[in-house]
Amino acid sequence: MSTPPRLHSGHLPFQGRYTEEALSGRRSWIAEQTGVDLSALGGGPPPASAIEGNIENHVGYVQIPVGVAGPLRIDGEFAQGTFFVPLATTEGALVASASRGARAITESGGARVRVISDQMMRSPSFIFRSLVDSVAFASWVRNEESAIRAIAESQTRHGRLLSCEPTVLGDTVCLLMSYDTGDAYGANMVMRCNWAVCNYIVSAFPAQSGREILDHYVDSNMGAEKKISFFTYTTSMRGKRVVAEAKLDRSVTKSVLRTTPEDLFEAFVAGITPTAAAGSMGVNVNFSNVVAAIFAACGQDIATVPESAQGQLNFRLESDGLYFGCLMPNIVVGTVGGGTALPAQSAALDMMGCKGTGGAKKLAEIVCATCLALDLSTFSAICSDHFVRAHEKLGRNRPKTGPLGLPPQV
Ligand code: NAP
Repeated sequence: MSTPPRLHSGHLPFQGRYTEEALSGRRSWIAEQTGVDLSALGGGPPPASAIEGNIENHVGYVQIPVGVAGPLRIDGEFAQGTFFVPLATTEGALVASASRGARAITESGGARVRVISDQMMRSPSFIFRSLVDSVAFASWVRNEESAIRAIAESQTRHGRLLSCEPTVLGDTVCLLMSYDTGDAYGANMVMRCNWAVCNYIVSAFPAQSGREILDHYVDSNMGAEKKISFFTYTTSMRGKRVVAEAKLDRSVTKSVLRTTPEDLFEAFVAGITPTAAAGSMGVNVNFSNVVAAIFAACGQDIATVPESAQGQLNFRLESDGLYFGCLMPNIVVGTVGGGTALPAQSAALDMMGCKGTGGAKKLAEIVCATCLALDLSTFSAICSDHFVRAHEKLGRNRPKTGPLGLPPQV
């Protein structure tokens, strides 16, 4: 892992200015604060040869601007200190809002964050003539667990098989194969390991049991990769289960968020019934904004945003302020492999001290704390009725038809 960033604080320079000088001035300031070379973020695209393995039929680049939210103070097991968080987005007001939430949290003492569990599950399936065979297969697999583990782990230096649980679905058995994938997201790693296990099973089970496997698939979709599922939400079998909390001072609620703990709590409670009526999983406002923007900046697989951005806020009113926290059960991140080694993405990871080996759990903690910061700010904007005005002011690079003007505030 790269050297952790030095402690830093203060506000980014040149705020509200859109000139080349302001752009490079802000970048140099962050580079100085973090001690990290960020020139790749300001340079052109990498040479075409650097892209091999990340794309096919390569024709060019879509550039997404990167802004920096923070400073955000985090007291995690892996992320310790004050962080600036790179966000790649074209959504005006996002970076400003995340920064405002970060300021409120930081001035209140910071966010406490922990990774509760960490695994990556995918699920091959096996089809049988009848459930007599499928039930027999499930008990055979349980007896074979050590052989299956040895085969899976022969395919990787860093991966470890955590569990291999057969789930009988009539004539079909899905194996829930769950791995510790170290600092990799692990999609390729897990599939390679599972493929080797499948090859062993289709030869060993019929030979040992005299029963036939009609067909098998290296992935059954029961793992719900890149999708939202109640199963992975509740079990956290995909990604890192992360919790964050902060205690908001009453004075900071007023000075930074322009509201009160009571109004924030009331707005949170008022949102629970409509969220349930919509059938949403978890109550949050816009975790996906932070997850998508950090993932795009840091070379993550952005197709995992749907599962990674799931989560649940929790508010509690206290006499001197507001306790608030969140649970994010499926943060799928890696700091090696995938797009993480591309120059700009690698610099973005380095800005948070998350580059390479040892960085994945730290990155997950930063993602969770930044989601908490953004949702706090967005909630505050909605409950104090500043939401639309802030977006009209900041969140617009609208087609040049001219604004209609806002109605008078009631
Ligand atoms: P990867 O690019 O295949 O790299 C992961 C490999 O890095 C590991 O297998 C490991 O090799 C090595 N490694 C080195 N240092 C490591 C460390 N500290 N911790 C863990 N591993 C370390 O990446 P991946 O995470 O397995 O897969 C992500 C990529 O797969 C993304 O590009 C994603 O878009 C793509 N993807 C693939 C599928 C699929 O079904 N195959 C599906 C979705 C996405 P050893 O295993 O030899 O130890």
